Amino acid sequence: MKQKIVIALGGNALGDNPQEQKDAVAVAAQSIVDLIAGGDEVMVVHGNGPQVGMIHLAFDEAHHANNAVPEMPFPEAAAMSQGYIGYHLQNAIANELRRRDIQKDVATVLTQVVVDADDQAFTNPTKPIGPFYTETQAQALATVNGYTYVEDSGRGYRRVVPSPQPVTVVERGAIKALMDAGTLVISNGGGGIPVLDQDRKYVGVDAVIDKDNSAAKVADEIDADILVILTGVDQVAINFGTPEQKWLETLSIAEANQYIGEGHFAPGSMLPKVEASVRFAASKPSRKAIITSLENAHLAVSEGKGTIIQ
Ligand code: ADP
Ligand code: MG
Repeated sequence: MKQKIVIALGGNALGDNPQEQKDAVAVAAQSIVDLIAGGDEVMVVHGNGPQVGMIHLAFDEAHHANNAVPEMPFPEAAAMSQGYIGYHLQNAIANELRRRDIQKDVATVLTQVVVDADDQAFTNPTKPIGPFYTETQAQALATVNGYTYVEDSGRGYRRVVPSPQPVTVVERGAIKALMDAGTLVISNGGGGIPVLDQDRKYVGVDAVIDKDNSAAKVADEIDADILVILTGVDQVAINFGTPEQKWLETLSIAEANQYIGEGHFAPGSMLPKVEASVRFAASKPSRKAIITSLENAHLAVSEGKGTIIQ
């Protein structure tokens, strides 16, 4: 039976520069095409943390060296990262399809994701982005631009932006139409470009939507069967990194909620993946989520490799 699968690809799996990224997506493309070759409908969501940081830093440095170069607002930088990563993924997946003589269109959709202006994330920004500054530099910048800067893990001061929950994907209709026509769609890059829905207008806002939450949202909106979150580990563990560490084959919604409460999953890395998986899997009995490594993508769907949340 043909299944609709949303794959969420970690931004850390994409490397730190264009060449590294080209090499990385060539590997990812093989896993993705393995799934298509099995007959399933696939959509790809990717992270953009390191990439959007790079774009920001480039404009920041250029602006300071030459006033003619504008500062780049956050939604615009996110859009650039969707284009840059989308190009590499489109290129690599199309090349892999041609290599295997599979006829299929591949397209990236620049994606805006609506967030709620009343989301408590806006009064409590937590997501560090961009370059590091000394405390003095950060204070000087804050008085000029009004941004919030916080100390980040002993490495210096960084700007923090809110990380609100995704409400709905603006381009969901276009994504569905492309998928129904058999196109492999790349969308919701970096979690999507965050926009507020104000007075019948979508307005870009400085924020970062978690990529795993965004993938779960779009998976729900296109009525997917499986959400596959590909990351740096084969499985989810409890007591991660301790002598009592235990890798999990399956995880029920109740168990997942219990382990979340007991603090087994690190905030900012594994926790959003488990939370997004639970939200998706709990929304319909037929739906499931799988968390595993890039190399396991194909086996995850065909043989249940990884941690299955159902
Ligand atoms: P991505 O770039 O794919 O979003 P992250 O680095 O944000 O990846 O999150 C995945 C990482 O979370 C894993 O590689 C692992 O080091 C870490 N991690 C934290 N807690 C756990 C856990 N309980 N089980 C497995 N991995 C965990
Ligand atoms: Mg992550």
